[in-house]
Amino acid sequence: MTQVEVWNADETLLHLVSVRHAVGMIWRGVATPVEVHETARFGPYQVPIVVRLVRYVEQKWLYSRTRATYSREGVLLRDRGQCAYCGRFTATTMDHVTPRSRGGATSWANAVAACEPCNARKGDRTPDEAGMPLRWDPYVPTRVQLHFARTTTTFAPNARDPVHVT
Ligand SMILES: [Zn+2]
Repeated sequence: MTQVEVWNADETLLHLVSVRHAVGMIWRGVATPVEVHETARFGPYQVPIVVRLVRYVEQKWLYSRTRATYSREGVLLRDRGQCAYCGRFTATTMDHVTPRSRGGATSWANAVAACEPCNARKGDRTPDEAGMPLRWDPYVPTRVQLHFARTTTTFAPNARDPVHVT
């Protein structure tokens, strides 16, 4: 699918996101459509071409090289509520890839979002031992990555059933 331009509140181009993400932003009220396709629809929405953030985002802060501070909520946001093992968007827990009992660190690089069944199934094992390969390698996100995960995902860390616009 084509990419949607995201403008800051002052109408400067920030970056591009997928149609799904742009619609999620509109749905959450963090962005409003500036330009839309006349006929193409995405769920109840007209497919956006350009969206504008409702609140101005300070770019200097966002684009500093500073890495985001590790947190459990941050891991769920970074992975957008997607389980790193089964790929479903139902992750409500955080899994230590190498279990803490086996010397695994509590850090971005050793943490992924996981759904409860996968987390329970994996238990105190490594992905190899459990035969549950990771769908992506965990990474240290920048502040900007977390910020846009927060504004573009419909995932809410406290919701049991995350809402997804499809
Ligand atoms: Zn899962």
